[in-house]
Order: sequence, then C-alpha cells, then structure tokens
Amino acid sequence: MNRDNPVFWIIFVRTIQASLCAIALHVLTGWSFTGPYALGLFLTPVLCLYFVFVFVAPWSWGLPILNRLATVEKIVALSFDDGPSETTFAILDCLNEQKNRATFFVLGEAVERYPELIRRMNAEGHTVGIHAWRHAAFVGLGSRRIAEEVNRTQEAIRRACPEAPPARWLRPPHGFKSLRALWFAKAQGLRVAAWSCDSRDYRDTDPESIAQRVTHTVRSGAIILLHDGPCSSATVEALPLILRSLQKQDFTCVPLERVF
Ligand SMILES: [Zn+2]
Repeated sequence: MNRDNPVFWIIFVRTIQASLCAIALHVLTGWSFTGPYALGLFLTPVLCLYFVFVFVAPWSWGLPILNRLATVEKIVALSFDDGPSETTFAILDCLNEQKNRATFFVLGEAVERYPELIRRMNAEGHTVGIHAWRHAAFVGLGSRRIAEEVNRTQEAIRRACPEAPPARWLRPPHGFKSLRALWFAKAQGLRVAAWSCDSRDYRDTDPESIAQRVTHTVRSGAIILLHDGPCSSATVEALPLILRSLQKQDFTCVPLERVF
C-alpha cells in the first residue's frame, strides 16, 4: 500500500542524480571509471531499478502477480487488506445489502481475534486470502520467516473455519514484490494478487474523495484496493458510495475465487 510513498521516489531521484554527477565529474575532470567507481556507477542504476520494481512500479513485469482480471466484461474485484477488525462487520453488512462479493486479505493475528468474521466471509461467498501474520514487509525477510508468516495465517484461517478450503490467494504487505515471496507462493500453490485501482483509503480520511478516486480510475477487470483494518472508518463510509457508482456503471463485483 506504500507504492506512492515519496521516500522511494526520493531514492530513485537521488540515485539518478548520483550517477549523473559521476558522469559529469568524469567528463569535466577525467575522473577514472575504473575500480570501485565503475562498480558504484554500475550498481546505482541497478539498485535504482530494483527499488522501483519492488516498491513503486504497478506492473508485474512478467512475474506471476495478478494486477487485474483478464477480461473486457464489466466485472471488478473489490479487495480489502489488513482485517478483520471491528470495521469488517459494517463492511460485510454493506456488501451483503446488494449481494456484492469481495476478497479479504487477512492478517493471521487479527483472524485469531475475530474468527467469527472468517466464518461469515466464507458463509456469505467472499474469498479469504492471506496478507501476513502481523503485516511485516516480506522484502528483506528470509524464506523461513516468509513461510512462517504465511503458514501461521493459513493455519489461523483453517482453525477459524475448518470446513472452508485452504486460502489460495496471497497479497504481500504493502504490495512489495519480494522475489522470495513469489517463489514461496509458487511452491505452495498460492496465487499472488496486487491491484490496479488504488483507493488510497490508507491515507485519506474523506470518504467522498476515496469513492471518487475509485469511480474515476476503475476499468473493466480492475482489482480495487481498500482496507478493513482498525483505522478504516472512512472506508466504511466510502463503500456505499463506491458500490452505488459501480452499479451505475454496470459493474459486477466478483470475489477472486469465482474468477479463477
Ligand atoms: Zn496491508
């Protein structure tokens, strides 16, 4: 959810500037490109590209990450991260009014606090996916730690609703594209989902502007990013506006489980 975090753009711009400065020094003073300088010049753009890829770029770049549904039909997928929490009750009520279905990427720790919400999500036809245990960013974590985050959450979901099939979808926290997480997901038979329509409800407290952002950017097959964590009261108010607008544009909301 921090794709728009200015820190990463600052890193991007600063590394480009560092490379340009080094080239200018070389041209003006004959400063040598050999040894550690050459390595530095090579590494800065590579690091820069890596940061952009992992933290900023909204594209999957050929990796097995679903950003949007491959369809031209008027369907969209609503997705909620960071729950369940107290706000999830109201979100489920609102979705249920018009029989809209969504996908919830849950935190294992929160699942242990609200197991009844996992049962309700399954009973009402929503998809339950894995976010993490406690929202640790997978970038920088070792394979064992990623496995622990995912497997503990899968187990919490299973304990909350033993009759439901195991979760098949994973959304790494912040949407950061950790290659280790992707390899792990592939080995476990999990599909990784990102999003194509960011409501930015994690940093906006105005329900109308959250809803407008979705309304103006939604396209056929969009995966819409929303949140149902403990600080998501604006999302609860924005959701009826979003659903009304989607309905007006003839979009049907589908859970990821139904599409694949
Ligand atoms: Zn999250």
